[in-house]
Amino acid sequence: MAVPALLHCAAVASTSESQPVPRARISAHGAARLSHGHPWVYRGDLLRAPAEEPGVVALEGPHGEPLGWAFWSPQSQISLRWLAPAEVDPPPPDPRFWRRRLEEALAYRQSLEIDATAYRIVHAEADGFPSIIVDRYGDYLVLQTLSAGAERVRDVLTHELVECLCPNGILARNDPPVRTHEALSREVVLLHGEVPKGVEVREGSARYLAALWDGQKTGAFLDQRENRIAVRALARGRALDAFCYHGLFALHLAAAGADEVVALDSSAAAIARTRENAERNGMGAVVRAHEANAFDFLRAELARGARYDVIVLDPPAFAKTRAALPRATAAYKEINLRSLELLAPGGHLFTASCSYHLQVPDFLRMLRSACADSGRRVRLCALRGQAADHPVVLTIPETWYLKAAILQAID
Ligand code: SAH
Repeated sequence: MAVPALLHCAAVASTSESQPVPRARISAHGAARLSHGHPWVYRGDLLRAPAEEPGVVALEGPHGEPLGWAFWSPQSQISLRWLAPAEVDPPPPDPRFWRRRLEEALAYRQSLEIDATAYRIVHAEADGFPSIIVDRYGDYLVLQTLSAGAERVRDVLTHELVECLCPNGILARNDPPVRTHEALSREVVLLHGEVPKGVEVREGSARYLAALWDGQKTGAFLDQRENRIAVRALARGRALDAFCYHGLFALHLAAAGADEVVALDSSAAAIARTRENAERNGMGAVVRAHEANAFDFLRAELARGARYDVIVLDPPAFAKTRAALPRATAAYKEINLRSLELLAPGGHLFTASCSYHLQVPDFLRMLRSACADSGRRVRLCALRGQAADHPVVLTIPETWYLKAAILQAID
């Protein structure tokens, strides 16, 4: 089944009234950062703050030279987030600017021919929407405006999303803690239509229920979609999905022919949802969901001499800050080492890290160390990342946070 075509339900061209535009002046250092392709201007590089409230402002260099348009966040350490060059037409105060950006983002997703009903439409800075996320779950959309400047275009974006996609409902999942750095409240608000508690999503041949109001992220981990599909090719024998959340890797492994899939999560609610999702796919007898701490489980399985043909490790971000890296790296190594030891000869490990602070070279160093300690001959079959609907811009390192690898224990 193809993803429903994007509908243009009305051709409404909004116009803006011309009003004096607030201005921000930044240092040469701040301007140099922008010229290297990174859109953030920190507070220390702000020479003159706009007197106005947060929102869209015009940006100028130390001598008044025009540098374009930006979101202005008075309370944040990231004062300005660059949007577009000065000569862009129409400019960001005009709703048509947002319509055009949205159409670009949608055209890119259409080009990906995604075989699923849930995917990311807007991936913040990587799509030219700084601090803004939009995820699509079938007929429903979830929007996040995570900075004070972005918050000011929330209603314009809602309007344009309705115009472009005719969703049944739009939810603002504005509860992430990062909003407090912007002096914004943490809230979940219905912006348009209605949004049910659970929305059924099809991903390849698997179906699952996404929790838009209160699930993690905007309701599901859409960034792993392509990896879940890729892991199907490894499915056989006994499989383990060690940080399963709602059991999506487990569902795909079961559907693709594993005889038995053990799905673990430390959250009882996640395990209940994994069981529901397994039943929904007629896989209740194949997926065995357990509430357990993965660290303890892996050690206990080794102690009893268990073996697995496939193991999936998709833990939460262990390194939330740079300072947490040493401990986090040790934790990543522990689960990867135990998993390599648990693999049957020829078995595969899919392993991921979504910690931004653990960069690709750190991830590979950690895996190399786990491989060495395992004493096994291990083949690197693939290096992977986040799904293509979560694009990466190399000059904005924060856009690339998910790293993954597929390893095989040769004998
Ligand atoms: N693989 C999932 C997403 C996993 S998110 C998907 O594709 O949708 C990480 C999960 O790890 C969360 O559900 C969290 O509850 C769980 N978790 C965190 N610490 C854990 C631990 N020590 N043992 C087992 N599960 C844990």
